[in-house]
Order: sequence, then C-alpha cells, then structure tokens
Amino acid sequence: MPKDKILIAEDNPLNMRMFEMLLRARGYRSLLKAVNGEEALEIAIREKPALVLMDIQLPRVNGLEVTRRLKQIPSLRHIPIIALTAYAMKGDREKFLGAGCDAYLSKPVSTRELPKMIGRILRQRTGYLV
Ligand code: MN
Repeated sequence: MPKDKILIAEDNPLNMRMFEMLLRARGYRSLLKAVNGEEALEIAIREKPALVLMDIQLPRVNGLEVTRRLKQIPSLRHIPIIALTAYAMKGDREKFLGAGCDAYLSKPVSTRELPKMIGRILRQRTGYLV
C-alpha cells in the first residue's frame, strides 16, 4: 500500500539521497524533492504533502521562513514539519517550535530515529497506520 507523500526540502545532494533511500526503504513511494526554500514553498502549496522534512539551512528562503509562511496558509497549516539542522544550539528548540515546526532533529540525522519520528507524527495526525 503506498504511503502518504512526503516533501523533502534539502539542498545537500548527499543528504537528499540518504533521506530518499531511508524513506523508500520504509515504503514511502511518493517523495517530493525541493533543493531551495522557494521550491519547497511552491511544491508544498501545489502538492499538499502529508509531511515536510525541512532543512533549516536552505538557499533563497531558509527553512524557518518557509515554515512560517506555510503555517500562515490555512489550508496548509496542519501539515507537520520536521526541522533538520546541522547547528543545534541553545534556544534552537524554542526558535523552531516558535516558527511552527512540529518537531526537529539535529544532523547527522539518526537513520533509526527519523523514520520512527515520521511514523509517529503521521499516526498522530491522520490515524493512519504507518
Ligand atoms: Mn542545507
């Protein structure tokens, strides 16, 4: 059974490939990919994904700003956003949650924790069994 579509917003090709492989291995077949913040906004608006993996350090529009904008759109604000950041610093959690991120993970992302977190969030949001 195909699982919900997930938007991966990530500008680093190696990370992108790793997230893709990780999610495909867990049965997520409809993956959408954005390599900068503008593209992430466009694709999210057009495709209404079930969840967004959001790199915070994205070119053009950073991930926090993309998150803020998506959360201002009533038809999109329910979409869970998992922030990914290479620089987990004091105060980041508050900053990310304040922008509307639903969860965050610091890079390097744990290949066990990421699919678990995605599954948990999708189950909470939709009642869908992942
Ligand atoms: Mn980046």
